[in-house]
Amino acid sequence: MQYYTLLLALFVLSFAGFKPASEPATSAPEGKNIGKKAPLNIIFMVGDGMGLTQITAGLYSNGNKLSLEKMKHIGFIKTHSADKLITDSAAGATAFSCGVKTYNNAVGVDKDTVAKETIMEAAKKKGLRTGLVVTCTVTHATPGSFYAHQKTRKMHPEIALDILGGDVDWFIGGGKAFFENRADGRNLSDELRGMGYTIGYTLADLKADMDKAGVLAADTELVTMAQGRGDFLLKGSELAIQGLNKGNQGFFLLIEGSQIDWGGHAKSSQYIIDEMIDFDNTIGKVLEFAEKDGNTLVIVTADHETGGYSINGGNLQEKTVEGAFTTGHHTATMVPVFAFGPGAEEFMGIYENTAIYTKMMALLGLK
Ligand code: MG
Ligand code: ZN
Repeated sequence: MQYYTLLLALFVLSFAGFKPASEPATSAPEGKNIGKKAPLNIIFMVGDGMGLTQITAGLYSNGNKLSLEKMKHIGFIKTHSADKLITDSAAGATAFSCGVKTYNNAVGVDKDTVAKETIMEAAKKKGLRTGLVVTCTVTHATPGSFYAHQKTRKMHPEIALDILGGDVDWFIGGGKAFFENRADGRNLSDELRGMGYTIGYTLADLKADMDKAGVLAADTELVTMAQGRGDFLLKGSELAIQGLNKGNQGFFLLIEGSQIDWGGHAKSSQYIIDEMIDFDNTIGKVLEFAEKDGNTLVIVTADHETGGYSINGGNLQEKTVEGAFTTGHHTATMVPVFAFGPGAEEFMGIYENTAIYTKMMALLGLK
């Protein structure tokens, strides 16, 4: 009898301490009315070539923590292009920007080379402000696919011309040579100035109150973190957010950790880790803004994985990983999607990379 009394007491006690499973143990701030309203702004962040292993290598090398961990809504995308199981960055970015599966090398065009309106162009048309911040040239495959329409990613001078379309209010990255040292003799920086842009060569040349602005911080791509790029991506992103976040118009901003991919191509764990941590520091700064703002959806994903990267050893205390590579090219593995802010729950699950476009367009009321 005593035994059953004890059991009953335990039973009652366990219910006294019971909390509904749906109530999170700690309430992470995720916007003022998560799930109840659409975002005013979207900050879309692409870690080029950033698979799970790249993230993991950055995590352990950074003392077992990343800002990315604040993003609780997580999904996976299938990255294949129209013609290949393994995508390149142009087809990958065009899936995000136009919602179509296209051939590798295509920039903002479908598989029949027909130009498709990008989310940036649609946003601009609806009165939102637009921008991009990258550590490659602003004419590179990933950023280019958001404002340009060209048959191949190699056409940097033509992609640069497409910026004159005026659909990018703020752009920050490298690529000065494609604007100012051209075979056609044109100086696109001067032409942009004629259109009301301030074009500078360092972040210090820009002020947050500028309506249209560009920084071309290098002739081609920016140097690597190891070569001393410093906090260019973080500071550039901060500045672009200030520059775009005006008058409650809403904005769409692309931020790319462009060189995580190049670490994979170089089969260099250290290159990947340096670039991954730089990208994550930028994510941390962006989330600080989004948390305070409450109207901004932040999405972090990748176009594909690079390197067939794996971690075959390492040491948690020493913050080291032993990386290994199966290839110097991209792979077909699914890549993760992390979301934070109003609408973040839409990004859970497993879906095609083109669905990122569909979800973002719907959330911004553009389609
Ligand atoms: Mg890229
Ligand atoms: Zn690549």
